[in-house]
Amino acid sequence: MESNHVALGMPVVRPDVPSTGGHGGGLLDQFGRRATDMRLSLTDKCNLRCTYCMPEAGLDWLKKDKVLTAAEIVRLVGLGVDRLGVRELRLTGGEPLVRADLVPIIAALRRNHPELPISLTTNGVGLAKKAQALADAGLTRLNVSMDTLHHDAFLQLTRRPFLDQVLAGIEAAAAAGLTPVKINAVLLRGINDGHAAELLQWSLDRGFELRFIEQMPLDADHGWTREGMITAAEIRALLAPTFTLAPDPRSRDGAPAERFEVRHPGSGTLLGTVGIIASVTEPFCTDCRRTRITAEGKVMSCLFSLTEVDLLGLLRAGTTEADDDAVAARWQEAMWAKPRAHGMGHPGLGDADFVQPDRSMSAIGG
Ligand code: SAM
Ligand code: SF4
Repeated sequence: MESNHVALGMPVVRPDVPSTGGHGGGLLDQFGRRATDMRLSLTDKCNLRCTYCMPEAGLDWLKKDKVLTAAEIVRLVGLGVDRLGVRELRLTGGEPLVRADLVPIIAALRRNHPELPISLTTNGVGLAKKAQALADAGLTRLNVSMDTLHHDAFLQLTRRPFLDQVLAGIEAAAAAGLTPVKINAVLLRGINDGHAAELLQWSLDRGFELRFIEQMPLDADHGWTREGMITAAEIRALLAPTFTLAPDPRSRDGAPAERFEVRHPGSGTLLGTVGIIASVTEPFCTDCRRTRITAEGKVMSCLFSLTEVDLLGLLRAGTTEADDDAVAARWQEAMWAKPRAHGMGHPGLGDADFVQPDRSMSAIGG
């Protein structure tokens, strides 16, 4: 059984990893993966309603007292970095810019961790006003999600008419030095799949790094279908008439995006790179380095986890060294139980093991 999984690129239980207790001092799992990349959701709220993420009516937002406070965020990141081997932090949501204390949170994190790469994933609405303050507070860089340059398709995808705000936000981020600016795009069949090459050309012209993300079954409406989603292979085919893509020789180094060099098909001139995050059809579970904390302080060892482990109760039980020990130990236990893989798209295994989690992407923190 194990050798089958090795052949299929699935992680195996490692004999050199202790099978009980003493999880190696970091956020280690039983398959020998060590999480060093922390994704922290600051809020479940959002001002867009992307069809692949949120229902039209929004969700039942968490009550304020159920959400991690700024002090709790700073404490958790401190535990992650100082004790558990976290080496990079991404702040996400929901929409992190809707949190009024975002700038002071980043400033506090930066004071405590001068060298930590801190990035933000945002939909860009309202970014134009905040980009400089975020940079001044110590944000390293950001990803802006923008699926199309067309107002009608943007409205159809996000159910809000805010494309011009997003474009202004991207410009402000670049001007504030939050570089390299990365653009995240999800393609939906019949809505913006025809815009892929145009979006790449626009990004290359401005020096932005575009990453296409395969649509995952994490929408609150449960409308995802395998036939409906645009696969990584299709994305490459959509770009092929306009660009020549070749795998980027630089190491992927645990990154979710597979990077490609983009060249002019006639002259062969290198124009830049593009990333494709093929979580569904070309999963990268074997090399996963992520640990996720939801806005309500629950550890999710994987985007597709069906179990969540609460840290908020322990955080609120006390602030002594012993309390910190308890929080760190529970976080380690949650990661130790990280599933081998998400059960979708692993060659030869089909989708038989896959169960869509109740939480949607916005409620996890993508
Ligand atoms: N609101 C912010 C934003 O949109 O960038 C941050 C949170 S959002 C959940 C993070 C990323 O997840 C975005 O790039 C979004 O496009 C992506 N996303 C949301 N739902 C998705 C899905 N079902 N499949 C793939 N990506 C998804
Ligand atoms: Fe909001 Fe981001 Fe989800 Fe869109 S993808 S609804 S912007 S959380």
